[in-house]
Amino acid sequence: MGDYIITTNPNRCIACHACEIACKSEKNIPLEATLGKIVVLGPKMVNGKPKMSSVFVPCFHCEKAWCLEACPTEAIRRREKDGLVYIIESLCVGCKACIMACPWHIPQWNSETGKAIKCDLCMDRIDQGLEPACVSVCPTDALSFGRPEELSDKTREAYAHGLLERNLSATSVRL
Ligand code: SF4
Ligand code: SF4
Repeated sequence: MGDYIITTNPNRCIACHACEIACKSEKNIPLEATLGKIVVLGPKMVNGKPKMSSVFVPCFHCEKAWCLEACPTEAIRRREKDGLVYIIESLCVGCKACIMACPWHIPQWNSETGKAIKCDLCMDRIDQGLEPACVSVCPTDALSFGRPEELSDKTREAYAHGLLERNLSATSVRL
C-alpha cells in the first residue's frame, strides 16, 4: 500500500473539476483520459432537501496491485520508499492488461502514445515537497493529501477545535 492518500471533504467539494483539469495539464494527457476522477453522486434527500455529493477518486496504490501483477513487461513498478505504483512508459507495449486487471479501472489509455497511463500521485512533485497537482488547485480546500496518520490527526484536531469553540461560545452566552 502506498504511504499517502488523498481524501475528499464532501461538504467542501463543489464538483468544479479543477482537480481533474490540473491532473490533465500536469501529466499532459489526452482529453479522453482521466487519471484522477470526480465522481458525483445523487441527488438524494438530506433533511428534506435534495443534495448532490462528490468524491475525488485517484489510484489507491493497492497492497495487491492487480495492474502491476498483470503487466507482462514489468513496466509497472512500486517505489520502495513510499509504495507508489507507477508506469515506466518506455517499457509499456500497450497490451492494456493493466486496464483490464484493475478493479477500479484506474489505468487509462493514451491514444496519442499507444501506451497505458495511471495516477502516480504526482510522485515527482512529492519528491520536491509539493502536493499532487489535483490537491494544490482545489479552490475550496476540499482535498487533503498526506499520510493516513497525519490526516487522522488533522481531522481530529479540527473536530476538537470546533468542539472547543462551540463550548467557549456557549459558555460566553451563559455568562
Ligand atoms: S491501478 Fe488499480 S490495481 Fe493498480 S494500484 Fe491503482 S487501484 Fe490498484
Ligand atoms: S498496457 Fe503497458 S503498463 Fe499496462 S500491462 Fe500492458 S505493458 Fe504493462
